Amino acid sequence: MSTKVAVVTGSNKGIGLSIVKGLCKRFDGVVYLTSRDESRGKAAVENLNAEGLFPEFHLLDIADRKSVERFRDHIKEKYDGIDILINNAGVSGGFISTHYDECKSIININFNSILILEELIFPLVRDNGRILNISSDCGHLSNIRNQYWIEKLSNIDLNMDDIVQFVDWFLQSVKDNTFNKEDLADGATAAAYRVAKVALSAATIVQQRELDKRNISINSMHPGLVRTDMTTGIGFYSADDAAKTPIYLVLDAPASLKGAYIWHDGKVVDWY
Ligand code: NDP
Repeated sequence: MSTKVAVVTGSNKGIGLSIVKGLCKRFDGVVYLTSRDESRGKAAVENLNAEGLFPEFHLLDIADRKSVERFRDHIKEKYDGIDILINNAGVSGGFISTHYDECKSIININFNSILILEELIFPLVRDNGRILNISSDCGHLSNIRNQYWIEKLSNIDLNMDDIVQFVDWFLQSVKDNTFNKEDLADGATAAAYRVAKVALSAATIVQQRELDKRNISINSMHPGLVRTDMTTGIGFYSADDAAKTPIYLVLDAPASLKGAYIWHDGKVVDWY
């Protein structure tokens, strides 16, 4: 029987690192701690080794196609498949900025990367595997106040082109200086992050339809407000506590739980 493999993106720190820690304790297989930076990644592995935990390390910058290709080739050669994939890596960026370049970069990392992973890494996920996209409360549809996009993104026939158009619509409006703050919740703070995370949660619904063919489940979730570098240490939960629901979702949840948007307490929240 082939060795089981779990992969967590952006896991040199924060929630991702805690997920790796938890999986190392419970998952019956190899756990990959991946990082876009070799020294930060290896330092994280050394710290876990000191706690008696032994994940494998590989470089993985989810926004860099070449890096994802190298990771794909490595997994293909060494294990020929993945059983659990947690797409955790993300950035928040400037919370009030609507500078085009910054918005583009936030969207690249938080959303466009999932299209690269879908193309290059999803095919490696074995039948009956589980994928989890770490989204945010900013990634729920209620963050959108533009009626056209609410209807589009909640349509039963939603497809990936619609989602890409939604993201392009936002970026174009930033570029043209026509961005309307009324189109997003909370005065459009963290505008690009909200748009990227809504796009990620919406993409999860579309991806499930494809993955159904191989009995693979994919869900998106909000991990709660967690004390990590992203929140400058502000939050209700430690990263270790926040890792519990993601670990439950990939190891323990019923296989019937799929294509859903899930809150940090494990409850499914309606998309619309
Ligand atoms: P951290 O900033 O602590 O960690 C983010 C991780 O993502 C880091 O390891 C970072 O690497 C990595 N990363 C960023 N860009 C890339 C990239 N291009 N390729 C690979 N790795 C990358 O954040 P959190 O642990 O708080 O966040 C984890 C996830 O949870 C994110 O998706 C975030 O949006 C989501 N989330 C977090 C909340 C919170 O309250 N903390 C609330 C809602 C959602 P590096 O060290 O190199 O920067």
